[in-house]
Amino acid sequence: MSIDKQPSCEDPFDSLLPVQEAQDRLSDALVTVAETELIDLKDATGRALSEDVVSPVNVPGYTNSAMDGYAIASASIPVKGHASLDIVGSAWAGRVFDGEVQPQQAARIFTGGLMPVGTDTVVIQEHVSTDGDTVTIDSQVQPGRNVRQAGEDVLQDELVLKAGTQLKAAQIGLLASLGIREVNVYRRLRVAYFTTGDELCALDTHAGQTLAPGMLFDSNRYTLGSMLTSLNVETIDLGIVRDSAEATRKAMLDAAAKADIVVTSGGISAGDADFVAQVFHELGNVRFWKLAMRPGRPLAFGQVGNAFFFGLPGNPVAVMVTFLQFVQPAIKQVMGLSATAPYTIKATCQSTLRKSLGRVEYQRGVLSNDEQGNLIVSSTGKQGAGRISSMTSANCLIVIAADAAGVVPGDTVEVQPFEGLFG
Ligand code: AMP
Ligand code: MG
Repeated sequence: MSIDKQPSCEDPFDSLLPVQEAQDRLSDALVTVAETELIDLKDATGRALSEDVVSPVNVPGYTNSAMDGYAIASASIPVKGHASLDIVGSAWAGRVFDGEVQPQQAARIFTGGLMPVGTDTVVIQEHVSTDGDTVTIDSQVQPGRNVRQAGEDVLQDELVLKAGTQLKAAQIGLLASLGIREVNVYRRLRVAYFTTGDELCALDTHAGQTLAPGMLFDSNRYTLGSMLTSLNVETIDLGIVRDSAEATRKAMLDAAAKADIVVTSGGISAGDADFVAQVFHELGNVRFWKLAMRPGRPLAFGQVGNAFFFGLPGNPVAVMVTFLQFVQPAIKQVMGLSATAPYTIKATCQSTLRKSLGRVEYQRGVLSNDEQGNLIVSSTGKQGAGRISSMTSANCLIVIAADAAGVVPGDTVEVQPFEGLFG
C-alpha cells in the first residue's frame, strides 16, 4: 500500500493538490455513460438529451393573430382620416375563416386565429369603432402589426436543442410544441453511498432516542441522499459501515459492483481509523486525495472496479461542500450534461473573512440586495466544518481564492448561490 507516501493532513498546503488541478483531473477521468433510451416526454424532467433535436415543423405552424381585433389587408389602411370596412366573417382560435378578405373588407379575429387569405394586419378591437357589419379604422394602423408569423419562434429543420441539454419545463414544453412525444436521453445513473464511523447511530433504528455518550446521528446519509435525489439519479443507500478494514472493503466492492458512482463519507484522512482511505488505496485507482481547499482537504477521487469513487470527509459541512464542488459536476458529466460547473456571481462582502493562504475556501454566506439593489454578502459567522447549522442559515457559498489572504468589508468576492447549486 502506498498510503504512507501520500501527503498527510499535517502537511503544508504546497504539497496539496490545487482545486483547479483536481477539477481538471476529475473531468479528464470521467466518461459519459454510453447507454441511451427512448422515453416519454412526460418522464423526461431532469434527464440529459443524448442527441440533437431538429424541429420537424414551424412554430407557430401558421400565421395567426396575436390579439383580439380585425384582420385586414394593409392596403386598406387609409392614408389619412378613416376608412369603413365590411366585416365578412370571423376567425377564431381553432376555427378558421374559409373565405378571402378583399381590400375594404375585414374579418373579426381572435388571438390565435389563423390569418384569413388576403390579410396581413390585425387592428386591435380597442382601436376601432363598429356599427353593425362595418368596422371603422384610422390612418394610425401600422401595417403588419399584431400578427405572429409562421415559424417566427422555431423554423422547420432548425436545431432547437443540443445533445447534452438538460430537459426542464421549458425544454419539455418546446419539444411538445414540436409534436415530439418521445426523446432519446442518457440512461439514469446508479449512485451507491454509505457513511462510515463507529460513532454513528442510524435514524432508521434510533430516531427520537437518547444517544449513548460519544454517539451521534448519521446525518450525512440523509444529506447525501437528498443531494443525489435532486440530481435525478437512482440511489442505492448502503447504510452505515463500521470502522474496520474488512467491513469497508466489503462495502466498497459491493458498492462498486452495483453502481456507476460510489460516494462515501468519513474515514478518508490518514489516521488509524481512516479505513476508507486505506481500503481505497488498496483496491482502487487513486487520482487525487488531499486538496488545497477548506472544508474538504481530505477528498479522494478515483476508480474502484468500473465505478468512479468519491471518498468525502466526515464533517457535515465538508460533505456538502465537496459534494457540490466535485461530485455534483461529476454526476452531471457522467449523466451526459454539457453544463456541469456551478455558476458564480460577484458581490460586495460586508464581513471580514479570515483564511489561510494557499487553499481555496468555501465559506457560508448570506446574499441579498442593498437599498440600491446591489448584491451584498455577509458571513454566517463561525465556519467550522462540523457546524451544519451554518449551511441552513446560508444561501450561498463565498469562494475565496487560494492566493487571497482574507477579505475585508468592501471587497468584491465570488459567490455561488444555493439556487444554482442545490437541485
Ligand atoms: P471522520 O472523517 O470519519 O473522522 O469524521 C469526522 C467527523 O465528522 C466525525 O468526528 C463526526 O463528528 C462527523 N461525522 C462523520 N460521519 C458523519 C455522519 N455520517 N453524520 C454526521 N456526522 C458525521
Ligand atoms: Mg470516522
